[in-house]
Amino acid sequence: MYDVAIVGSGPAGATLARLIGKDYRVLVIDRRTLSGPVGGEGPDRCCGGLVAPAAQKVLANMGLGLPQDVLVGPQVFAVRVMDFDNNLDGDYQRHYINIDRAKFDRWLVSLVPPSVQRRDGCRVRGFEPCDGGTAVRYVSGGRTYVDRARLLVAADGGNSLIRRLAMRTWPDRMGPMPQRYIAIQEWFDLPEPPPYFSAIFDSQITDFYSWTIPKSGALLVGSALRPGRGASGRFDLLKRKLTQLGFRLGRRTRREGAFIYRPRRMAEICTGAPGVVFVGEAAGWISPSSAEGYSFAFDSALHLAAALRGGIEGCQARYAAMSRGMKLKIAFKSIRCPLMYDRRLRGLIVQSGWRALSTATGLLPAGRIGQAAVAPG
Ligand SMILES: Cc1cc2nc3c(=O)[nH]c(=O)nc-3n(C[C@H](O)[C@H](O)[C@H](O)COP(=O)(O)OP(=O)(O)OC[C@H]3O[C@@H](n4cnc5c(N)ncnc54)[C@H](O)[C@@H]3O)c2cc1C
Repeated sequence: MYDVAIVGSGPAGATLARLIGKDYRVLVIDRRTLSGPVGGEGPDRCCGGLVAPAAQKVLANMGLGLPQDVLVGPQVFAVRVMDFDNNLDGDYQRHYINIDRAKFDRWLVSLVPPSVQRRDGCRVRGFEPCDGGTAVRYVSGGRTYVDRARLLVAADGGNSLIRRLAMRTWPDRMGPMPQRYIAIQEWFDLPEPPPYFSAIFDSQITDFYSWTIPKSGALLVGSALRPGRGASGRFDLLKRKLTQLGFRLGRRTRREGAFIYRPRRMAEICTGAPGVVFVGEAAGWISPSSAEGYSFAFDSALHLAAALRGGIEGCQARYAAMSRGMKLKIAFKSIRCPLMYDRRLRGLIVQSGWRALSTATGLLPAGRIGQAAVAPG
């Protein structure tokens, strides 16, 4: 019997395993193989790979700096807001660190102490209460395995299987699920991509946002879309609009997707169920305004590790109490959402030039951009 079984070794799961791995008997299960080279077995996590200042601060608090190998060029110092609803754009200074997400995940996993048992390439299928804890069932190479642990930690990201199963098992004890979006992201060869992160607002495409991110000889184009049959067509519409604006989308080299949670109320954050604790995006820890998730993944792992310092008994209540500040942060970001997502308010802010950079990159017509009149395909 393990003390703690963690499902998922993304930023939340790997950080928790690193922090508690020397004090507890820990098992980490991930469907990906994060010890091998990038591009090895299975797809990597679909992500923009921008480390925002909030995540930089948590990394600093944890005494970590990013290795050179994880960084990719260009480093971006500006976000270009492209408001297609109001035909406006504006550049704003931001300090992101541009990274290779696949290498970032491997680096975080490389910090996990060897005493932690890792099962890579294993997909968790279910869990059930057992004597003294929880039994977790997973498959690998066509075989099914079961391991038992005193505590199960769900760190399996947006659209968490553990959260969905817990919802089915304890419908009255789990809060509502956060709104779920499907993120589609494509990579295009582009030797000199525009050196800024663009955040695109267009209610024809999504009520969340779309983006372009330069990535070492490539341009990423992505969008967080309401799931459903029209999602792919709305993504195509985004690409057509970008092309009309002068974006050169070279050869497409990759298309990827992921679900993404967007919590709008504190009740949608779920820190625990009987025998199960949720960290990272599985809990709903992600910014509802920007989809920044690394800082929340790290912070939730830090709080759970601190709660576990008092033992497994009672750790859920301690974790819930410690993470109240994070809930307030999400509530605050949710309250601020209309500034970005209300068409009229956003238009007023962008038009006012408040806190905008005076420089124009020249790629788009300065100030006003044309509304591309294209119907969804
Ligand atoms: C398109 C996109 C772009 C984003 N860009 C950014 C960004 O630039 N900056 C930022 O801060 N945040 C970004 N985010 C959010 C960020 O990626 C997440 O919030 C963050 O990765 C959450 O970390 P996590 O450890 O909770 O979950 P994840 O990183 O999702 O890790 C979950 C892990 O669990 C594993 N897993 C899942 N299900 C199972 C299963 N059944 N069995 C076994 N293993 C399983 C997965 O393989 C994965 O390794 C983006 C999200 C998306 C979708």
